[in-house]
Amino acid sequence: MTRIGHGYDVHKLVPDRKLILGGVEVPYDKGLLGHSDADVLTHAVMDALLGAAGLWDIGHAFPDSDPAYAGISSLVLLERVMGMLAGKGYAVGNVDATVIAQRPKLSPHIPEMREKLAAVMGVPADRVNVKATTEEGLGFTGTGEGIAAHSVAIIVDK
Ligand code: MG
Repeated sequence: MTRIGHGYDVHKLVPDRKLILGGVEVPYDKGLLGHSDADVLTHAVMDALLGAAGLWDIGHAFPDSDPAYAGISSLVLLERVMGMLAGKGYAVGNVDATVIAQRPKLSPHIPEMREKLAAVMGVPADRVNVKATTEEGLGFTGTGEGIAAHSVAIIVDK
């Protein structure tokens, strides 16, 4: 059976944090605030995968009240999500995602994000698409208060 899922996440941009997106450290004077590495792109992808599998969401899979997840790489969490999917007999078909950020410019880093996410998901990079857009200076992404990410995922029987 083929199933589809959707994920959405937002994190706040603050000084003195690394900016990690899709497992890639992007040079910038701010980073995303969160319990883990706050990789908003990987979080949206994980929620899309969990949603597709009917496995609720990352907040329930990895509670932010659990100190085990403090500062953890979201790619490690994605690996665990893949284990949860495998346990239900699912593999990734393809993933598409959009990061919404006014700054910094993300396009130079997108090929590496695709490679890193795809490697953890066990698929070729051409099955993991990542896009970046701005919201034309509007709203919280436009003012640089935060970064948002959306994702959809198709999963298939292993
Ligand atoms: Mg998150």
